[in-house]
Amino acid sequence: MARRTRRPRRPEPPPTGVLDWEHGHWKPTALPCRYGCGGWPTHLRDSKGRPAHKVCAEAALAQQVRDYAEAYQNERLRLT
Ligand SMILES: [Zn+2]
Repeated sequence: MARRTRRPRRPEPPPTGVLDWEHGHWKPTALPCRYGCGGWPTHLRDSKGRPAHKVCAEAALAQQVRDYAEAYQNERLRLT
């Protein structure tokens, strides 16, 4: 029986974005984006109920992941 070698691979983010804001994230009032992107006021709210564009929230999330990954990498390099 053939076994496929498993390589750790980073999955590609879906083209629609990583966040599913289809339900419950739209509010009737448009407010300025909390990320201060200078874009139009948004009807969308993030998971904590603060006004945010979906793309801005996803960009912030991606940055957070990069920061965590970097911190993790640094920690690992220091320990070895
Ligand atoms: Zn924004």
